[in-house]
Amino acid sequence: MKTIVAKFGGSSLADAEQFRKVKNIIEQDKGRRYIVVSAPGKRFPEDRKVTDLLQDCYEAALKGDFESELDKIRSRFADIITGLGIDFPLDDEMAVLSAHLSDEPQKEYVLSRGEYLNARIISDYLDFPFVDPEWCVCFGKNGKLDQRMTKRAMGAALKPLKKAVIAGYYGADMNGRICTLARGGSDVTGSLAAAAIGADLYENWTDVSGLLAGDPGIVDTPKTVRYVSYRELRTLSYMGASVLHTDAVLPVSDLQIPINIRNTNRPGDEGTLIVRKLPKGETKYPIVGVAGLCGMSVIQVEKLMVSDESGFTAIMLDILKNRQLPFEQCLTGIDTVTLVIRSELLSPCKDELLAEIKERLSPDYLGLTENLSMIAVIGERGTETSDANVQVLQALSNAGIPISTINQGAGKLNLLIGVPEEQYENAVRAIYSTIKED
Ligand code: ASP
Repeated sequence: MKTIVAKFGGSSLADAEQFRKVKNIIEQDKGRRYIVVSAPGKRFPEDRKVTDLLQDCYEAALKGDFESELDKIRSRFADIITGLGIDFPLDDEMAVLSAHLSDEPQKEYVLSRGEYLNARIISDYLDFPFVDPEWCVCFGKNGKLDQRMTKRAMGAALKPLKKAVIAGYYGADMNGRICTLARGGSDVTGSLAAAAIGADLYENWTDVSGLLAGDPGIVDTPKTVRYVSYRELRTLSYMGASVLHTDAVLPVSDLQIPINIRNTNRPGDEGTLIVRKLPKGETKYPIVGVAGLCGMSVIQVEKLMVSDESGFTAIMLDILKNRQLPFEQCLTGIDTVTLVIRSELLSPCKDELLAEIKERLSPDYLGLTENLSMIAVIGERGTETSDANVQVLQALSNAGIPISTINQGAGKLNLLIGVPEEQYENAVRAIYSTIKED
């Protein structure tokens, strides 16, 4: 029998009806033995996620009056419990949270309670043992996840159990202090659990039938991608595709455990399979998808014969490093160095940074262009064929979109194209139109 780790996101567990769907899905395959859960998400577009309600509650507690905020959380869980008809000690749990909020609350502890309570409830509902990540998702002194320790501790906690429910999103440090992952981090917990037990498959159940090849807010009914490689997926999610947390890929990709994105509301759909190598013949068209980010700035430094001056680029990067300012791309030409940096990171230090570049590098020209967007055309094989690149550039030219920067590393995983922000959506549509159905 296969061993499957199945992670259910917030929308899959937003109310009692969704819990019933989840139970059905779990019962359909006996291999679904380790279940990772998020906190209840939105039931309808204007609704609030329980984690957001907990954040409000924490902020209210700092001001000394959190009861009405806590009531909203109590009522979300009470509805689920009543709807499922189970016996769950909600009052006792709420009393513990209320006591914590009354006395110097710790933010990460408060934020983690959505996952904790949801996991406890579903473990009762499924009759699966509950595993608290407080015992096995380990954070170091620096507040960062310790993947090695976690793998060992999770393996030790899960392997002896035939089945289990684990809360996503949090863990604890050596002193037992609760620490949370980044928002959306239950995806990472699922991936860590799959790696720790050496699962055959990591299923990630959400409210879409897989990864879309383009942003549905921009492109009309984009196609669902059937297969995508770990590298492609990481790049797509880094560049804004929101189906899976970027950090959820690495723990399972080392062990080549496939990830299957599935839709709780349409369990018959096959979803997207994320694998190391795309199966031969399955995908005929090589470009997998297009994603992008706005809010980029470009710094352009020109100096005659820059390429002869060894260390010029190194000094540029040293200036960024000293300011702990990460960059997205660094492109070099014969007389130019171009840096692409996220505007939100650049803004606070823009003037001093430009002044330092002037002082240390004495450029012939120093320019800053703001309001740029960066579009990634992704496909491990797609960008290898010059034809695909030609089609992309042709589509942009036909649409009259100016290209500000263009970059493709030797890895050829993606072609990165910078266009002015006001042309972003047109550019995405133009590029998407070159993606063919398989
Ligand atoms: N509940 C947390 C969030 O809303 C973590 C998660 O869902 O993965 O971000």
